[in-house]
Amino acid sequence: MTAGLGSARRLVVKIGSALLVDERSGRVHRPWLAALADDIADLRRRGIEVVLVSSGAIAVGREHLRLTGRPLRLEEKQAAAATGQIRLAHAYEEILGWHDLTVAQLLLTLDDTESRRRHLNARNTIDQLLALGAVPLINENDTVATTEIRFGDNDRLAARVAQMISADTLVLLSDIDGLYTADPRRDPGARRVDEVQEVTAEIEAMAGEAPPGYSSGGMVTKLGAARIALSAGCRMAIALGTHNHPLRALLQGAACTWFVPAAEPRTARKRWIAGALKPTGALTIDDGARAALARGSSLLPAGVVAVEGDFLRGDAVAVRTRDGRAVGRGLSAYAAEDARRIAGHKSGEIEAILGYRGRDEMIHRDDLVLD
Ligand code: GLU
Repeated sequence: MTAGLGSARRLVVKIGSALLVDERSGRVHRPWLAALADDIADLRRRGIEVVLVSSGAIAVGREHLRLTGRPLRLEEKQAAAATGQIRLAHAYEEILGWHDLTVAQLLLTLDDTESRRRHLNARNTIDQLLALGAVPLINENDTVATTEIRFGDNDRLAARVAQMISADTLVLLSDIDGLYTADPRRDPGARRVDEVQEVTAEIEAMAGEAPPGYSSGGMVTKLGAARIALSAGCRMAIALGTHNHPLRALLQGAACTWFVPAAEPRTARKRWIAGALKPTGALTIDDGARAALARGSSLLPAGVVAVEGDFLRGDAVAVRTRDGRAVGRGLSAYAAEDARRIAGHKSGEIEAILGYRGRDEMIHRDDLVLD
């Protein structure tokens, strides 16, 4: 499993403010970003999909607005984020553009990744961007954040994004090359842990407390991210990002800490759909659709003979045969009302019936679990 970065297929990379932005001038470290862009281009050439979760908006914006030298109130941080984000995105756009890479910005709230409907939309958008060859660049939508913006939240956001898009690898670029048995700045006997399979109490004890103001949010938030990633079947690395070409270094086997999950992302996602979500409706399907599902196909509207319940797009629904036998469950791409209208119809008719062109499938096979 720890075959290194080269075995990744869909990779999320989290970039912290401290690596990207010079704290004193509030400017983006352009040579560092240029080197990272080389690495990203190289990964893409190897067929690896790359999604970036980058902090730095507040660090860039606060300097620009001259909000320096004192702690900021929430609304000042939000003003700084709004100012900094546009500059940050410009830097990425320009520098990744040197490799003809298209950057696409997504500002998410953690809730987008936690609530299912928006989750499905964001997942589809990111899938589409990757299919079109773009590099999604994600940050938290700080200006609408209702809770205090905490440094380190992007560790959690990156893990949630990885979970949402079924990424197989998440790399948190940090100012340290992994998890240590104790704080290496204080304890000379501290050793790096090469591999972790479960975030146990013993592992948690190694992280200690998050030091105040510590740029990367400390190990505590990284272990929180690891817990999310592992439950999603995504392996995660805490790796050194302070030098140029940090991803190249990882490709070449640089030391780091790998968190290795027991299951694959697909299996973990299916388990989530099967276990954690309560169906709020049911679709009855015909025999042809039943046979198609058994072959691994998606459920098309044409195969649906009845729709029960009151559900919204992205909600879990039960799937059963005409004689009431349970087939499985999945996330419906249509709300109940629309599902009733398109049931029994060909996908090509959806637009004429509903007035918009939704997904061809009622339940995409990735969102479907058979019993
Ligand atoms: N979203 C914040 C920013 O862009 C940073 C949050 C974090 O570093 O975890 O400045």
